[in-house]
Amino acid sequence: MSSTLLKNFIHGRYVDDSNHEYFDVINPGTGKVIYTVESAGESLLEDAVESAQRGFEVWSQTPAIERARVLQRAATILRERNDELAKLEVLDTGKPWQEAVEVDVQTGSDAIEYFGNLCPSMMGEQQSVGNDFFYTRHEPLGVCFGIGAWNYPLQIACWKAAAALAAGNSMIFKPSEETPRGAAMLAEIFIEAGVPEGVFNVVHGDGVVGNYLVQHPSIAKVSLTGEVGTGKKVMAAAAGTLKNVTMELGGKSPLIVFDDADIDEAVTGAMMGNFYTQGEVCTNGTRVFVHKDCYDTFMERLLERTKNNIVVGDPMEPETNLGALISENHLHKVMAYIELGKEQGATLAFGGERLTPAGCENGYFIGPTIFTDCTDDMRITREEIFGPVMSVLTFETEEEVIQRANNTDYGLAAGIFCQDLRRAHRVIAQLEAGICWINAYANSPVEMPVGGYKQSGIGRENGVEALKSYTQTKSIYVGMDKLEGPF
Ligand code: NDP
Repeated sequence: MSSTLLKNFIHGRYVDDSNHEYFDVINPGTGKVIYTVESAGESLLEDAVESAQRGFEVWSQTPAIERARVLQRAATILRERNDELAKLEVLDTGKPWQEAVEVDVQTGSDAIEYFGNLCPSMMGEQQSVGNDFFYTRHEPLGVCFGIGAWNYPLQIACWKAAAALAAGNSMIFKPSEETPRGAAMLAEIFIEAGVPEGVFNVVHGDGVVGNYLVQHPSIAKVSLTGEVGTGKKVMAAAAGTLKNVTMELGGKSPLIVFDDADIDEAVTGAMMGNFYTQGEVCTNGTRVFVHKDCYDTFMERLLERTKNNIVVGDPMEPETNLGALISENHLHKVMAYIELGKEQGATLAFGGERLTPAGCENGYFIGPTIFTDCTDDMRITREEIFGPVMSVLTFETEEEVIQRANNTDYGLAAGIFCQDLRRAHRVIAQLEAGICWINAYANSPVEMPVGGYKQSGIGRENGVEALKSYTQTKSIYVGMDKLEGPF
């Protein structure tokens, strides 16, 4: 247990819990405990709900233009504290500093700024019906519950809170046990920006804590980012009180390289879609389908760039571009998949080993790993590995690759590289995935809705529709003529 203790954040401050249950957070780069967290017991969870209800009463009555101002202030504070927050994210997640300093805090503050800007423009509609008319109001849902994964802790908290709060809701957020600090920092920043107490509470703990709030009758909506299996459990638990759900879940996305592609760009896309954040990205294009006519050139450049351009090392070092996996357990899971790939007949073309960079000998590093000679039925090409493991497959025809790309229960993302415009749009239209890229991979501006088809999710984050998903429509019919009836 560390001497630094992170407590639950309720009604504008860190609070003690009589439960006295704790867990440690480990820096994946070093394997050392960096701080301890107090997990929330039932009575504290009830306090969090009661506080969020009071927060909702105030915030939902705050004019949208004022909510917008407060959210803009929060976005500004996030940006001002970018480097400090990025450092905390690196220590918690093991991701490279060069990513966190550019992406994690900024994409979080972008979401708060975007939804803050959007909320005053959210208007109902009015329609005449003869002399009568009706109008609609987009009202907030109430207390929402956000559950985060560990790969982008601050960004996920920002994305969920931004849309929820902009629409006038309050939110209780439970970060992953492995990375609980980002959400707590956000809670502090919201208070500093002027968000009323209780509008954003953070509770800590595992799935038991999550499940308690998912089932809570006073919570209106649950938004989860996590694995498909967790999504199924959360949805089943939410069904007891018929809660509204948003599910941002896992994937095994296809990235298709046609024979007319710019091969260097396709290699960049494949490396981004497999090695960024050491492969711990939900939208990763882990099934790389390469047309047989450009396969040799693609592989030659991919192997050369993977060998020469990837720097595995201390995540805090600026030149490191591939960091540590989140935990020892996760490292073993990824290593087990690498063994499985070899056993099932794939060729290990690169990497596949645990690494021990200088100064980080006890960290959880696996080098970039590339399998070739993969087939569609191997477990490494069917299951989400969530590590730096790329599976390369070959194909011959457009029809064939579309069918094989769609042959999965997942449907989060897909990418294609090709120069033929008609083919690009024709193929994308047939891919069963919620987030698609043409001659790009992994870009996710806040204006663009993101979410999964099939078992990769329900609902969307970001974009205008995410704001609407935190509202419910009230229709009001107004009778202008004398009311007559058969009775
Ligand atoms: P998990 O599904 O293991 O956990 C997600 C969150 O759910 C954690 O906070 C976890 O708590 C909590 N949780 C676990 N069980 C329950 C339960 N029964 N009720 C309520 N909450 C519960 O995912 P990971 O954290 O391992 O994250 C990786 C996964 O997230 C990958 O599958 C990845 O694809 C997906 N993901 C999806 C994204 C998207 O936008 N589609 C984006 C990022 C990641 P605890 O960890 O403390 O046990």
